Amino acid sequence: MARLCWKCREKISRHHTGYLCYACQEKRIEKMIADGEDLVDAVGYAEILGVDSAEQLRRLARKGVLAPHVPEVRRWCWRKKDIEAWFKQKQRAGDVLRRTAMGIASNLRTCRYDSVICLSLSDKIGSKVYGQEHIMGTTDTGRVEPIDLVKVDRAVALNALEQLPKKDFPEFIDITDWADLTYDRINEDFIVRLEAYF
Ligand SMILES: [Zn+2]
Repeated sequence: MARLCWKCREKISRHHTGYLCYACQEKRIEKMIADGEDLVDAVGYAEILGVDSAEQLRRLARKGVLAPHVPEVRRWCWRKKDIEAWFKQKQRAGDVLRRTAMGIASNLRTCRYDSVICLSLSDKIGSKVYGQEHIMGTTDTGRVEPIDLVKVDRAVALNALEQLPKKDFPEFIDITDWADLTYDRINEDFIVRLEAYF
């Protein structure tokens, strides 16, 4: 059965993907420009991202790490405001990951170097790493009492862990949860790498 353009009801070829004929696609773009939309093509987007070819842009698109382009139009184009919104959202997500990694790093440092908390190097750090409960530790003045750790959202923290490349963080080989880290894997070098990653 022949397919028809959703807009003008012209026949469109079987090999044509999408719902609009090419003429209607072009009209759609012209209309957006007439409406004052700031449109960016693939070359323009590549420039914004600082990648040097449209081919690289396509590679990024396949990974799903670009702003959504204008739908139903074969020629790739983006509304500038969608690109800007995407950047803002990405930045917010990055901020959350960074804050979470810093919180985890702080808790790793506190637990690892506190002789009340870290009794044996072969122990796992456990849920302490997420800082949700008070635990007995050593205060700045040397007294042993309940201390505060940094509260960290576990789901975000696990997401962050997934993004750490194992080749740069061999500490995570065979580990899928921060709580499973044993104290012997935690040292200052690891903590500093973690603080610098996001
Ligand atoms: Zn049409």
